Amino acid sequence: MTTRRKFIQGSALLSVLTLSGVSKWGKALTLAGQAGLPVRKPVVLSTWDHGLAANEAAWKILAANGKALDAVEKGVMVTEADIRNLSVGLSALPDRDGIVTLDASIMDEKGRCGAVACLERIKHPIAVARMVMEKTPHVLMVGSGAQKFALDNGFPLESEKLSPEAEKQYKAWLKTSQYKPIINIENHDTIGMIALDADGNLSGSCTTSGLAYKMHGRVGDSPIIGAGMYVDNEVGAACATGLGETVLRICGSYLVVELMRQGLSPMEACRKAVERLMAKNPDYKDVQVGFLALNKKGEHGAYSLQKGFSYALADATGNKMFDAKSKL
Ligand code: ASP
Repeated sequence: MTTRRKFIQGSALLSVLTLSGVSKWGKALTLAGQAGLPVRKPVVLSTWDHGLAANEAAWKILAANGKALDAVEKGVMVTEADIRNLSVGLSALPDRDGIVTLDASIMDEKGRCGAVACLERIKHPIAVARMVMEKTPHVLMVGSGAQKFALDNGFPLESEKLSPEAEKQYKAWLKTSQYKPIINIENHDTIGMIALDADGNLSGSCTTSGLAYKMHGRVGDSPIIGAGMYVDNEVGAACATGLGETVLRICGSYLVVELMRQGLSPMEACRKAVERLMAKNPDYKDVQVGFLALNKKGEHGAYSLQKGFSYALADATGNKMFDAKSKL
């Protein structure tokens, strides 16, 4: 959970920024907002509390003048490998048949992209997505075909056993088998990451086990380019988290990037996308969705439907959590 302490920390930093511009952090943000002034880079952002550890790995690459593409791949691999994580990687909660299926996507500054969906028993779907992008003429591979592609390219086949915590929770769920999305499950959901490197190039990644106890074969927004994540190096990058069906209906991340192209700030673009989502999803009150965006100037913003969406931001001044503003 985003603790009150972390929230206050974030708010305090933001008020320093707004009121005085004294801190290095605040000054950087303020300057980037004005035309003609230096771009704030490198910078990396990712969704939820698990974003902190992922940002740390991404930052190491960015700080050494590495590429945003490498940063967003290696960053989210930390989350995929975290055995405590119940919503990303193989330790996550399974679908309703007890099988963990993973979705991931990646996109770079050239508009190249790759994705995998419904992938079983592979530890790093994001690395497979990158390989789809770099080694095939395709964008999206799914299911057994995606798994075969991964195995053919040297990824090991992992055990099909659930992680101990996932197994415990799945057994408990089986007692009622209630199929209902829960808002902010333990505040751990998809990890979406967007970054701007020292050369001014943007990239994005997104990886998840999707909705817990989903129907077998269900695919969410995360591996769908333009829904769960999108990058346009002329404009900005965006990613989404939350109930994927609602994001798919509005091509959420693409919409955020297009709104930035029209001149909206990253936060305004995320807010407008949330409003569009509400208009197209009559059941919006029962779900959570959050958008995170970054533009070419290094300005960022986030907005969610319900309270509780947090994100991590790392730049030269540190790696910190923030709470997004929300509609409801
Ligand atoms: N967006 C993901 C999905 O619907 C889940 C999430 O972000 O929690 O698959």
